[in-house]
Amino acid sequence: MTPEGSGPRPRANDDVEEPCVVRGCGAPSVRHLALAEARKAFTDLPEKGRRAPLCRDHYREWKKATKDARKLDRLGW
Ligand SMILES: [Zn+2]
Repeated sequence: MTPEGSGPRPRANDDVEEPCVVRGCGAPSVRHLALAEARKAFTDLPEKGRRAPLCRDHYREWKKATKDARKLDRLGW
C-alpha cells in the first residue's frame, strides 16, 4: 500500500490554504484561479494542476494585469 502524501491532512475541506503558485513566492493563497486565467498575468507557472492559488499580492497583480483585457465591474470593487 502506498498512501498518497504524508501526514494527517484533512481533505474534506476545500478551504485549505495552498501556497501561492507564483514561483518563489509561497505565501498563503487567498484566491484560486483557473491556471489558464492565471497565465494571463504570470507566464512562469507550473504545468500541473488546474487551479492556481494566488496570495493577496499576486492576486492584485493579476487583477491589474488583466484589467485591460476584461471588465471587472461585476465584482463591484
Ligand atoms: Zn504570491
